[in-house]
Amino acid sequence: MKGPQRDTDLRLAAVRRAMRKQSLGRFLVTSREHVRYLSNFSGSSGWLIIGPRERLLLTDFRYRDQAGEEAPHWSLHLAQAGLPAAVGELATAWDHRRVGYESAHLTVRDFQLLAESDGGSPPPVEWIPTERLVEGIALIKDEGEIGAIAAAAAIADLVYAEVVSLIRPGVTEREIAVEIECRTRRRGGEGTAFPPIVASGLRAALPHAGPTDRRIAEGDMVIIDMGVVVRGYRSDLTRTVAVGSASERLREIYRIVAEAQAAAVDMVHPGIDGVELDAVARRIITEHGYGEAFGHNLGHGVGLRVHEGPSLSWRSTDVLAPGMVVTIEPGIYLPGWGGVRIEDLVVVTRHGRHVLSTAPKDLQVV
Ligand code: ZN
Ligand code: ZN
Repeated sequence: MKGPQRDTDLRLAAVRRAMRKQSLGRFLVTSREHVRYLSNFSGSSGWLIIGPRERLLLTDFRYRDQAGEEAPHWSLHLAQAGLPAAVGELATAWDHRRVGYESAHLTVRDFQLLAESDGGSPPPVEWIPTERLVEGIALIKDEGEIGAIAAAAAIADLVYAEVVSLIRPGVTEREIAVEIECRTRRRGGEGTAFPPIVASGLRAALPHAGPTDRRIAEGDMVIIDMGVVVRGYRSDLTRTVAVGSASERLREIYRIVAEAQAAAVDMVHPGIDGVELDAVARRIITEHGYGEAFGHNLGHGVGLRVHEGPSLSWRSTDVLAPGMVVTIEPGIYLPGWGGVRIEDLVVVTRHGRHVLSTAPKDLQVV
């Protein structure tokens, strides 16, 4: 059995175990990321139905050949009247009443269509909302997944190095963001993991600022937050640079963020929980008097989505385990001044960690 096939079979087995725990006769997968994760089918329109022995991929005529190639072990069902109607129609023949669906990944409209077309009253099936069923399995990445994330991180590092050399007074944030997008594609990424953040000057105080037509000026700080997609897997990287010169205050705040970031990275290991890890960085930033200015979580899991579990925050209940991939990204944001954030992507290994991001972490003046 080939690698990818073995991996998707292991994931399918894990889904079936979770189904048994929740007494689900069948499980409907509607998240595009999860469809690819479980079947390898990467088309934009497709749902899966998983039963104890059944594995059905529903798509439409446009994807018939692609589905056959990418997911040869799945029975193909062409849904000519739309996916919800096709599922509803199949459901009329199901004996087991409890059918799980992904409540976070099904629109109200599609749910209505499903319920309308499943045979009427009394309905043959009971639609059971599930939460985080596939997400819980996808928390732990296998070697192939980590390889894809590492490849995405490597392209991000490369593109970051290229665009940093383009930053100079007069260039706009948007021009830098466009360069990130097109260089990501040119370097082999499927696309950016999210619209890049390029926040300069006072706008660096906004943790998630979209790029604008503002011209970067001498003495600015610039936060670049970017990610790449490879084989459906994402990366996430943030660096802050100074343009022309760095003020004493910027140097001081940068040192604090860098110290907090490094301390938290060093503490990544199996068994530590999100609260503890967050506290490592938060304590350092708070001791320097900037606790209030670090208003977001320390980090998050990355994989099929750029923000997924585990959560690393003061209210997290997640515990790190080998195979998880997380970001460590403390920041200090001061309205009227600007901000600094440093973010690395880190794999939790059996005995510790492996940092994927290699972009320089001491303050670069460009
Ligand atoms: Zn980021
Ligand atoms: Zn992030």
